Amino acid sequence: MTPSLHIGIAGAGLAGRTLAWRLARTGCRVTLFDSRPRAALDTASMTAAAMLSPLAELAVSDDAVFALGQRSMELWPQWVAELAEHGQAPVYYRQEGTLVVAHAPDRSSLEHFTRLLQHKLPNACRAQVLTLDAATLAKHEPALAGRFGGGLFLQGEGQLANDQWMAALGVELDRLGVQWHEGQAVERVEEGRIVCAGQSYEVDLAVDARGVGSKAQLPQLRGVRGEVLTVECRGVTLQRPVRLMHPRYQLYVAPRPNHQFVVGATELESEDTGPVTLRSMLELGSALHSLHPAFGEARVLRLASALRPALDDHRPAIVQRDGVWHINGLYRHGYLCAPALVDALAQQLLGSRQPLETQ
Ligand SMILES: Cc1cc2nc3c(=O)[nH]c(=O)nc-3n(C[C@H](O)[C@H](O)[C@H](O)COP(=O)(O)OP(=O)(O)OC[C@H]3O[C@@H](n4cnc5c(N)ncnc54)[C@H](O)[C@@H]3O)c2cc1C
Repeated sequence: MTPSLHIGIAGAGLAGRTLAWRLARTGCRVTLFDSRPRAALDTASMTAAAMLSPLAELAVSDDAVFALGQRSMELWPQWVAELAEHGQAPVYYRQEGTLVVAHAPDRSSLEHFTRLLQHKLPNACRAQVLTLDAATLAKHEPALAGRFGGGLFLQGEGQLANDQWMAALGVELDRLGVQWHEGQAVERVEEGRIVCAGQSYEVDLAVDARGVGSKAQLPQLRGVRGEVLTVECRGVTLQRPVRLMHPRYQLYVAPRPNHQFVVGATELESEDTGPVTLRSMLELGSALHSLHPAFGEARVLRLASALRPALDDHRPAIVQRDGVWHINGLYRHGYLCAPALVDALAQQLLGSRQPLETQ
C-alpha cells in the first residue's frame, strides 16, 4: 500500500486550517502547527468581518482578486454544506447581496464608487450592480426606509460567520485525525521539515501559512492594521451587509446571528498590535449610529484589532521558495479568496502524488 503524503502546515489561520482540511479529506497525513491555541481571537482570521464582496472590493483591488472572489463564491456554499454533511455545527453563510448607501452630504462618494465599479467590472457582471431609488431600497431593507435617497445593490455578494467556520473546521480536522500542535511557535519551515518548539518534524511537503508571522521569509510582506466593533442590537434587523460611503473611509455593517452586527473596518498602515484606539472606536460607532439611531442602544460585545498580511501588489500569492510552499498576502480579501486559493494549492500539492479517496 502506498503511504499517504505527509504535509506539514505552519499556521492554522484561515489559509492553513482550510488547506489542512482540503488535504486531510483526500487521505493525506497532515500535521498542523500554530503558536496560538485554536480558539485564540487575536488573528486576522478571527477578527475579520468575513464579507464576501467580489464586486465592492473591485474598487480597491484588481482583476486577479475579482476572479479568485468569483470562483470562491461558487465554492463557499459547497464547502459549508460539506462540513455540515460530516456532522459539524452549521456555519452561518448568506448570499443576499450587499447594499451600498451614503448620507446626502456624501453622495459624491457613492457616485464615484459607482463609476469606478462600472469602469472596472467586466461587461458580463455589470448587471449584478443595480441602482436603487429610495422606495426600492426600503423594500430591500425595511429598517433603512426613509433614511437614504437611494443606493446600490450588489447582487450575489455574501458573508460568513468566520468564528463558526474556524471552529467547525477545527472539529472536522480532529475527526480526520490531523495532528495539531497548538500553542507552539514554529521556528523554521524548510524543505521537508518544520522545526517547532525545538523539535524537528520531517514531512514530504512543507507549507508556510503563518500570515504576518512569515515576514522573515517573505520580505515584501507587511501587516496592515484593521479594527472592528461587534455589537448586539435587538432594535434593528438587516437582511444583508450594508456599506456606508464616506469621503474619508468606507465602513460596513454586517449582520450576524442572534441580533449581532460586525462593524468594520479601519485600515491603518501600521503593525501596531495594541488594542483599538478611542478614535477608531468613535469612527466605527458613529458610522453605525448614523445608519440607524436605534443602534444607539446597541451593546458593545467586542472591540478587536489584528494585522492583515499584505504583499506590495495587494494580491494573495502561492509561491514555492527553497522547497517550501507559501500561501500568504491574503490582505483584506482572505475570506473572499480563500476557497479558490486553497483549492489551487491543494491541487498543486496533491499533484505530486495520486490523490486518494475522499473520506
Ligand atoms: C479587521 C479585519 C477585517 C477583515 N475583513 C475581511 C472581510 O470582510 N472579508 C475578507 O475576505 N477578508 C477580511 N479580512 C482579511 C482576512 O481576515 C485575512 O486575509 C485572513 O484572515 C488571513 O488569513 P491567514 O491564515 O493568511 O493569516 P492569519 O489569520 O494571520 O493566520 C496566521 C496564523 O499563523 C499563526 N502563526 C504566526 N506566526 C507563527 C509561528 N511562528 N508559528 C506558528 N504559528 C504562527 C498565527 O497564530 C495564525 O493562527 C479582514 C481582516 C481584518 C484584520
